[in-house]
Amino acid sequence: MKILVINSGSSSLKFTLFEMENETRLAHGMAERIGQSGSSFHFTANGGGSHTIEVENLNYRTSLALVIKYLLDPKFGVIKDIAEISAVGHRIVHGGEHVSAPIVLDSKTKSIIKECFELAPLHNPPNLQGIVAAEDIMPGVPQIGVFDTAFFQSIPQHAFLYAIPYEMYKRDAVRRYGFHGTSHKYVSIKASGFLDEPKEFQKIITCHLGNGCSISAIKGGKPLDTSMGLTPLEGLVMGTRCGDIDPAIVVYLMNEEHLSSEEIYEILNKKSGLLGISGLTSDFRDILNEADKGNKRALLALRIFSYRLKKYIGSYYTVLGGLDALVFTAGIGEHSAHLRADVCNKLECIGISIDSEANRNSECVISDSKSKVKVLVIPTNEELMIARDTLAVVQAQ
Ligand code: ADP
Repeated sequence: MKILVINSGSSSLKFTLFEMENETRLAHGMAERIGQSGSSFHFTANGGGSHTIEVENLNYRTSLALVIKYLLDPKFGVIKDIAEISAVGHRIVHGGEHVSAPIVLDSKTKSIIKECFELAPLHNPPNLQGIVAAEDIMPGVPQIGVFDTAFFQSIPQHAFLYAIPYEMYKRDAVRRYGFHGTSHKYVSIKASGFLDEPKEFQKIITCHLGNGCSISAIKGGKPLDTSMGLTPLEGLVMGTRCGDIDPAIVVYLMNEEHLSSEEIYEILNKKSGLLGISGLTSDFRDILNEADKGNKRALLALRIFSYRLKKYIGSYYTVLGGLDALVFTAGIGEHSAHLRADVCNKLECIGISIDSEANRNSECVISDSKSKVKVLVIPTNEELMIARDTLAVVQAQ
């Protein structure tokens, strides 16, 4: 059975076609700069090489039409008939409190996506456009939504509610939702296979460290807490996002620097984090290079980044009442031995001890034999998780 996974973002549409029998990726690629000048389309097929074309003013519909055209191409395509695609799995960012599992996208579930526009103004509208384009181009093919927020719907009320007037939760839906759910789910399932404890007792902390960063505490396969909140701004230090700050800073800065709500929002989302502290870049590799050369602000950015991460690991250790596995994933988590060593070498107090050689080589298990906690480096695969979830919904029908 073949499943097409689509991730339509604010200016791009990424796709992957999977053969689910052996979970192989048959083709993948993306349309870039959607809705802007200079848009382009990239397509890579198993055994068919890579192709890039420049197309002016791509939209979601024309992008998806290109995906299908290339998938069907007699020379380098990977299918002969569109009917070979059994279902389409869409990555959807926000499902509010209505969605706790992957679901069939029908008029009811599409209206839920619309209801959540205000909570994810940059993501849900293009997600919906991707669905409409797929329905249009592939009529009759089941469309399934896999929501970033769904995995975290099991988080208990004491962890998802903020200590603000309760009416604001009821009236305005202000609560912790969490993001990167598909990634945390994928790597926690993988990590589970490395542990001897029965699954229902397993205590796992997953650290998704990319441009956006989040951390989750997962017990028996269900999250108990996660660091991102109403929006992806809360929690860890990120490339350009501040993560946790005293909320009074917002009002204070608006007054002191005469900033509008849009301006302060832009500063906290786009000009803070590693970029804001270093004054140089949001890219972790570049921060490491600058720190190596002795740049003090880059060094400071690294310290603040790993200090915040350690603080969260410590607090989730107590939330879980112990720890069996600590997982690193996404760009920084998968590739930065420096960051992993910096964090883990200061966590001996909770039984973490890593093998420096295994860490340097980014091996899968980087904890040593005396470590009480398995420390794992697991490459995330959100597309495959979406394809698996899509398949499960289709098969259950
Ligand atoms: P996104 O959240 O956009 O999917 P990624 O998961 O690709 O991002 O992570 C991007 C981050 O990973 C960047 O900060 C990048 O510098 C960092 N990164 C990628 N490779 C390395 C590496 N070898 N060492 C350190 N950081 C890396």
